[in-house]
Amino acid sequence: MAEPQSKSGSELVPELVSEFRAAPKTESSALRRPQLTMDLSALRHNAVVAKQAAGGRKLFAAVKADGYGHGAAMVTQAIRESMDGFMVASLGEGEALRQAGVTQRIMVLQGVMSQTEARRAAQRFLEPVFHHVSQIEAVGRVGFGLPLTAWLKLDTGMHRVGFTADEFPEAYARLSTLRGVRPNPGVLTHFARADEPNPAPTHAQIDLFHQVTATVQGDTSLCNSAGLLAFPDAGGDWVRPGIMLYGGNPFVTGTAADHGLRPVMTLTTRLIAIRTVQAGETVGYGGRFTASETMPVGVVAIGYGDGYPRHAPDGTPILVNGQRARLIGRVSMDLITVDLRGITASVGDSVECWGAQLPIDEVASAALTISYELMCQMSGRVARRIVE
Ligand SMILES: *Cc1c(COP(=O)(O)O)cnc(C)c1O
Repeated sequence: MAEPQSKSGSELVPELVSEFRAAPKTESSALRRPQLTMDLSALRHNAVVAKQAAGGRKLFAAVKADGYGHGAAMVTQAIRESMDGFMVASLGEGEALRQAGVTQRIMVLQGVMSQTEARRAAQRFLEPVFHHVSQIEAVGRVGFGLPLTAWLKLDTGMHRVGFTADEFPEAYARLSTLRGVRPNPGVLTHFARADEPNPAPTHAQIDLFHQVTATVQGDTSLCNSAGLLAFPDAGGDWVRPGIMLYGGNPFVTGTAADHGLRPVMTLTTRLIAIRTVQAGETVGYGGRFTASETMPVGVVAIGYGDGYPRHAPDGTPILVNGQRARLIGRVSMDLITVDLRGITASVGDSVECWGAQLPIDEVASAALTISYELMCQMSGRVARRIVE
């Protein structure tokens, strides 16, 4: 096993390095537990892919939900050279990034709900998004010592948060004239369907955005990963890639590799038992899988307590010793079971749930979810290590 932190470790935040060093134990019990390996060179590579796709536009890297489960402090540190800023969901996430030493711009999507929160944001140079009139009212006409760099969310079709085209002019004027807010706030919108093959809904969102913001002086931002890759003419001053940085496929079709993206997260564990199940016997809780013949079944040390999706059905792909095998039986908290027919394996062999050899998107689609969710739901029990 590679040394978790070699030379390049010194570039990382020191507390982070010791935390990651402490996690993987070399004793054999730890080797039987699941491990997440984060490939820094893949992360940096994907960031360069995003930067190239951005053309001259600036980039806010989406690192909400702890960097999509990869560790926001690690991610911000690793790709700071190719990013102009970072984007988080909550004020607390933004403050944590400042604590971790991030000095670039930080957009906070949920914005602020009170003067106290606005002051916290201003003091830390966090840039809140105003998506509802109640936020503008709550911030009111007071100053915060340091002026807030603010963004206004324009709803162009997602219909979740943001001001409609009709509401926009008044909201923008009100936000711009708040005493605590820097003049010319930025404007952003978010695509609802840029991941789908039909480009029409996204083109409609892009057109509406440019129409409504034609006279806006502040910065503008439209694209998530899918928008960045599939709509090169979408425009805006900033783009906001997320999933592509982590090597997930931003689209409902094709693969991440089609776009030159490399997986950052690899989830591995071990085969801890092999047994023979007789024809007619069932495996696991609820007896979901019934053996149609006498067959070898492998028991793998991972479960939903680690973040493996409990609703993964029979047939979900998994790699045993580099060979493609199928999940059988219900996922339990600490264990899963796999069909070892046709597989060469012995106890202690390595198992990859997803990552370098098995795209996370394949596992996600088998489990009727998306790579985003699998990445975000990794539990704290899983040991993490960083490799170059
Ligand atoms: C999460 C998020 C992004 C990034 O989306 P990806 O699909 O991961 O690229 C961009 N913009 C907003 C508003 C987001 O919430």
